[in-house]
Amino acid sequence: AKQQHDGFRRFTVDHNLDPAARLTQLGDLRRGLDDPDQFTLHYQPKIAVGTGELTGVEALARWQHPTKGMVPPNEFIPVLETTSLIHRFTDRVLALALQQARRWLDAGHRVPVAVNVSTRSLLDLSFPDRLAEALESAGVPGELLCIEVTEHSVMSDPTTAIEALRRIRAFGVKTSIDDYGTGYSSMSYLKLLPVDELKIDRSFVADMVADPSSHALVASTIALGHNLGLAVVAEGVEDPTTVAALAALACNTAQGYHFARPLPADDLTERYRLAGQL
Ligand code: C2E
Ligand code: CA
Ligand code: CA
Ligand code: CA
Repeated sequence: AKQQHDGFRRFTVDHNLDPAARLTQLGDLRRGLDDPDQFTLHYQPKIAVGTGELTGVEALARWQHPTKGMVPPNEFIPVLETTSLIHRFTDRVLALALQQARRWLDAGHRVPVAVNVSTRSLLDLSFPDRLAEALESAGVPGELLCIEVTEHSVMSDPTTAIEALRRIRAFGVKTSIDDYGTGYSSMSYLKLLPVDELKIDRSFVADMVADPSSHALVASTIALGHNLGLAVVAEGVEDPTTVAALAALACNTAQGYHFARPLPADDLTERYRLAGQL
């Protein structure tokens, strides 16, 4: 969704798709949601920069299309966002992520799980109540869930977003601003936002070693976040030099291919079980 200067929100879609193709894709998405198996989640570890320990995971949606194979989220989520199907999808992702958090709990591990929530679902007035129901039916305490919303979606309608985030946090659920640095929120807004975490967009993190202005942005975001009492996560960490640069800036947490790609839950469990952490 893009905030226009006239104040209206408009939901934009993938311009590579002609209208007929988009209709076909919507039909496929609707059937996909009717099928319990087409949408799955992969999980990417969030790692403590200082110790290398697993601090949580981010759930990332995967669509196994019956004929086209794996469709990446950036190709189907914008299409879902054009209709109310996005709410069914959000509910599905939440239920799957909470089921997994429950499985880890049953195995004796408290693994905080972060779920991405699209603009349209965040701004839907029934979302916080649906979230509470999902926690209740999965039997997972709110503290083990984190909701990631992009800086863009918050800034598209700050009043509604702030109210939603406030209601979500009242369940003990953590909130995180994703893709931070790409959405032009001012410092005064950041102070008002009911959030626990900032995730620095990977475009800045990826360039921080080579590009002084990216480094400056990462450094000042970490300092600002910490001064506001927020956890700061760097995403898109691909090499040890970047890890060292983040450690020098006292960044708490990092995510990226350097540590692990998003993995099916069983693979992730196996990997961290071998490391003695799960
Ligand atoms: P995001 O929330 O910013 O997620 C991070 C994306 O960066 C993921 O792509 C992840 O696989 C990728 N990534 C992680 N580490 C690295 C790295 O070191 N280098 C590079 N180049 N990439 C890395 P993915 O899984 O394709 O997801 C893309 C976007 O789709 C996500 O961006 C998020 O905005 C959206 N998305 C994914 N799952 C969901 C979902 O369940 N609901 C909603 N609303 N959006 C989702
Ligand atoms: Ca995210
Ligand atoms: Ca992100
Ligand atoms: Ca992103």
